[in-house]
Amino acid sequence: MSGRLEGKVAIVTGGASGIGRATVELFEAEGAKVILADIQDDRGEAIAQTSPNIRYVHTDVTQERDIKAMIDAAVEAWGRLDILFNNAGTAEPDAEMEYIGADVFDRTMSLHVRAALLGIKHAVPVMREQGGGSIVSTASVAGIGTNYGPVCYSIAKAAIMHLTKLAAVRLAADKIRVNCVNPGMITTAVFGRAMGLSQDEAEEKYDVLRQVSSFAQPLPVGGEGVDIAEAVVYLGSDAARFVTGQALVVDGGLTAGTPPDPEGGTQKML
Ligand code: NAD
Repeated sequence: MSGRLEGKVAIVTGGASGIGRATVELFEAEGAKVILADIQDDRGEAIAQTSPNIRYVHTDVTQERDIKAMIDAAVEAWGRLDILFNNAGTAEPDAEMEYIGADVFDRTMSLHVRAALLGIKHAVPVMREQGGGSIVSTASVAGIGTNYGPVCYSIAKAAIMHLTKLAAVRLAADKIRVNCVNPGMITTAVFGRAMGLSQDEAEEKYDVLRQVSSFAQPLPVGGEGVDIAEAVVYLGSDAARFVTGQALVVDGGLTAGTPPDPEGGTQKML
């Protein structure tokens, strides 16, 4: 299928890498004009060079003025904003409960929750004025279960899920839909960093990482950025016009549980 986002204007934060990059590329292929917002200027500019329908805007999502400027950039370039994908983020590790740093908590909440809230705040006037829009934020399986990520990160992702519902209800009358995606294990720099690799190293070893991540969940498939991008295209498109306030889990069955042990497992113990 193509043309699912024909005529739409979108913003993708964290668009220079991983899930965001895959979404920028799929949005563009589906007919959207895209603002790629990130702090990695070289990577962002290089992706923008590939199409006149992609523009890079340096945006630190922890800064409210940058968020406002990124929304203004979409309106200045293409006159509207149909889809905002609040996606930038990283999983900063933290310590055991009694040693967790308040600084890690503050940084994590600022990067994930405050940024998504401020993205919604500044997108609303534009979307309301034009008669509607779609906002999608990246949560995580870590916002659902307790053993999928660091503590502060998991709290932040759970908060994004609740923010999604709060905003969806408050903005429904304006035909602004608000949803989130909850990725499972996806082969990106975040995953590479969790294994001690730099972004360049993670990209070099992409196939190996994808192989490793194919063992993480019931489906024996390594999750990739495009798997999440497909979900975001759906939520951003008119096909999802009746969908709001939802968390779409894309995790290869990870949160559904583990398959029964073929050797008999617990039954043998009874
Ligand atoms: P990634 O590192 O490949 O991409 C993250 C992007 O966010 C990078 O381009 C980075 O420069 C950008 N970024 C970081 N801080 C920023 C800031 N202050 N302002 C603007 N941009 C900033 O990682 P990814 O896996 O694609 O992560 C994207 C989102 O997906 C994150 O919110 C992450 O928490 C979430 N997520 C990832 C996984 C996974 O397994 N990879 C699973 C669940 C959720």
